[in-house]
Amino acid sequence: MDPVRDLVVVGASLAGLRAVEAARRKGYDGRITLVGAEPHLPYDRPPLSKAFLDEGTTPEAPPFRSEEHLREELGVDLLLGTPATGLDASDRVLEAGDREVRYDRLIVATGAAARTLPGTEGVAGVHALRTLDDAVAIRTALDAGARTVVVGAGFIGSEVASGARKRGLPVTIVESLDVPLTRSVGPDAGRVCAELHRANGADLRLGRGVRELLVADGRAVGVLLDDGTRVDADLVVAGIGVVPSTGWLRDSGIALHERDGALLCDATLATSLPGVYGAGDVAYWPNPLFDDQLMRLEHWTNAAEHGAAAAAHALDPAAAVPVASVPYFWSDWYGHRIQFVGVPQADEVVVLAEEPYLALYRRGERVVGALTVDRPTQIMKLRKLVSQRASWTEAREFAEGLPAVRAPQRTR
Ligand SMILES: Cc1cc2nc3c(=O)[nH]c(=O)nc-3n(C[C@H](O)[C@H](O)[C@H](O)COP(=O)(O)OP(=O)(O)OC[C@H]3O[C@@H](n4cnc5c(N)ncnc54)[C@H](O)[C@@H]3O)c2cc1C
Repeated sequence: MDPVRDLVVVGASLAGLRAVEAARRKGYDGRITLVGAEPHLPYDRPPLSKAFLDEGTTPEAPPFRSEEHLREELGVDLLLGTPATGLDASDRVLEAGDREVRYDRLIVATGAAARTLPGTEGVAGVHALRTLDDAVAIRTALDAGARTVVVGAGFIGSEVASGARKRGLPVTIVESLDVPLTRSVGPDAGRVCAELHRANGADLRLGRGVRELLVADGRAVGVLLDDGTRVDADLVVAGIGVVPSTGWLRDSGIALHERDGALLCDATLATSLPGVYGAGDVAYWPNPLFDDQLMRLEHWTNAAEHGAAAAAHALDPAAAVPVASVPYFWSDWYGHRIQFVGVPQADEVVVLAEEPYLALYRRGERVVGALTVDRPTQIMKLRKLVSQRASWTEAREFAEGLPAVRAPQRTR
């Protein structure tokens, strides 16, 4: 195989950055080009719906690494504010702006874009939350005391609601499911999460949808729900999921998932095109820890792990191994930390403690998941059990022995 001289990473965020760092750590000394659509240096997204929305703090998202570190220490050619627009796989050329960038290996880490409410483009006061620019707009509205409607009681929408309630602002959450978060954590834990909203004064409208956005003089002034109720609002935040950012790959011949257009990778994160790998929120891969279940996760830890693995495999395919990973995410609402490891599709979910909450998820004779609220030091022990394919009996005994101590919350 020819030596690798040009590694190109598309997507200058978490997975892309971790790919760059891993490549250098592995001793790769060829050229690295990092191509990003946003003008910003890679920055961390989780704080955008948490501390970033707090009153009285400085509204900035410090980059993961300084420009000097990226250019000088990691030796990266940065092409920021330059979305990739196409890929010619036969000549191994990436098109980005007016540039053509040659690659020996390419890592696609373009993540996902927030889904927006249809027909609301250009209406002031309506936002989704994916980027730093989105977060600045939402924070500015909260600073002005916005009455807030959140559409979708998923994790990001719920964190925005929590941020608004922390400031004492009125918040209505509109959710089409009868129990929020059922797909992510199952119905029992979904009910526990819903209770946090109610206990903190958010008006949670379950089983409801938005029929119409109400607009006056180009600004949102409220929403009309599908039961005919009107809710006045100055800020409407859509937390209704994401669309994988692969539009630029449409004519490249790369295999994409027929349902959502995300990248289809094999167990080593290789795509269907030679020399091209996927990583992070944009990529499906069969996870050997869960019977090769095809997964696409929208979790920080997975993006970081994928980025490092994709770079290692791209540079040394002969040494590539299947990426086996236990999904993990956290979310912070109203001063509580919710954490989940594993998969929610289970034969049985057993609640071992209500306060602080602890539930285990069983599939067959094996533990496949765990959810905790306010037990931040315990979740990684449970993750280890899932990764070791521990038996249900062993996991249950272990979890029952955990102390019911509410640990202080870490905020990031
Ligand atoms: C507000 C918010 C809060 C979150 N909170 C949590 C949390 O509490 N816990 C948790 O586990 N996870 C959380 N996440 C999820 C986590 O941040 C993501 O899983 C992670 O950012 C994914 O990293 P990524 O690099 O795969 O994709 P992304 O972070 O989406 O980055 C992809 C990058 O690619 C760029 N790009 C897109 N198209 C192109 C193109 N054509 N050319 C060049 N560049 C392109 C994008 O502009 C973007 O910068 C949160 C996400 C958000 C948005």
